[in-house]
Amino acid sequence: MKPKDFQRPDKNGYYGKFGGAFIPEMLHLNIKELQEKYKDITESEEFQEEFQDLLKNYVGRETPLYFAKNLSKKYKTTIYLKREDLNHTGAHKINNALGQAILAKKLGKKRIIAETGAGQHGVATATACALLGLECIIYMGETDLQRQAPNVGRMKMLGAEIISVTSGSKTLKDAVNESIRDWINNAPTTHYIIGSVVGPHPFPDMVTRFQSVISKEIKAQFLEKTGHPNPDYIIACIGGGSNAAGAFYHYVNDKNVKIIAAEASGLGLRSGKSAATTFLGSLGILHGSKSLVMQTKDGQVVEPHSISAGLDYPGIGPFHANLFKEKRAEFMAVTDQEALKAAQTLTKTEGIIPALESAHALAVLDKITFLETDTVIICLSGRGDKDMETYLEKLSSFL
Ligand SMILES: *Cc1c(COP(=O)(O)O)cnc(C)c1O
Repeated sequence: MKPKDFQRPDKNGYYGKFGGAFIPEMLHLNIKELQEKYKDITESEEFQEEFQDLLKNYVGRETPLYFAKNLSKKYKTTIYLKREDLNHTGAHKINNALGQAILAKKLGKKRIIAETGAGQHGVATATACALLGLECIIYMGETDLQRQAPNVGRMKMLGAEIISVTSGSKTLKDAVNESIRDWINNAPTTHYIIGSVVGPHPFPDMVTRFQSVISKEIKAQFLEKTGHPNPDYIIACIGGGSNAAGAFYHYVNDKNVKIIAAEASGLGLRSGKSAATTFLGSLGILHGSKSLVMQTKDGQVVEPHSISAGLDYPGIGPFHANLFKEKRAEFMAVTDQEALKAAQTLTKTEGIIPALESAHALAVLDKITFLETDTVIICLSGRGDKDMETYLEKLSSFL
């Protein structure tokens, strides 16, 4: 029997039993076009030349693999941080937004839509559109618009049109519904840039490929720094799962590397205010693909909660659902409080303020006792500037 390939889905977009494309009939042509063309276009020399040039000269890649000496001393092991926080716009999301924006142009699309919760994916998309001269429309729930004023300002300055969504709970899932409605109405001219490894096939595979640059760089950097091909652990936080998919990609078929995904358990797994999908979810269909979903017995999606907006999502991508089911990755639940503490530890020991999302990955350091001889790589998915208000409020007793 062939060993399992965890990197890529089958031709119908399935990772094991997760994935596929469950879409309204009116999107059939757009999705089919993407399914038929995404590999040829993104693997072409012309595409790669433009993409790699922008990653290097515009985004600032490669990002450092930083040996965190002080943190290593504190935890009595060897810790490296993959510094996605140093990317232009402050996180890994720009890798995907640029990749899809270039693809949209090659497909002849002039109009980009996207939805955003915290505004991070919206900012990355608006940035890519400003650079590449594409019209940009961002859907955002009215509640989120009020909560995320600085990012709304950035998107506006970048030239995006922002549409306030006032249906339902006025948050991310309502913005997704409106984006899909827009895509149906404007299918021939429009590409929908999905911001994580979720959505109908080919989005999970396409976004994974764009983000896989993270582990491609780690592999080369780790070998150069240590003389060893592989670390013992690779750790990342997981909302939809794009920074994790990127950080795990070149290691998933390598059984010697332990893979750990940190999910947000909010106020606690049994609090009813959590976003820990592998602990609380079950098989279901969310946003066009079959995966693990937090839902009630009759299939109503449960409202998630996490202190970090980027992890506040009631599902995970099919790539990760398969890693979970096959026990290839270990999933850990990290609470709001544990993440806050980890953010403070990194800031004080290394002088790096992490995004709240990334702090969930750092919190794993308090949950596993590593050997002194272990090497541990943590994906620092983004920087904490956007979270300063939360930090100042929640950490006031420490400051
Ligand atoms: C959006 C975001 C995440 C979560 O998204 P994934 O698709 O799971 O990576 C994590 N970290 C940061 C900094 C983000 O902005």
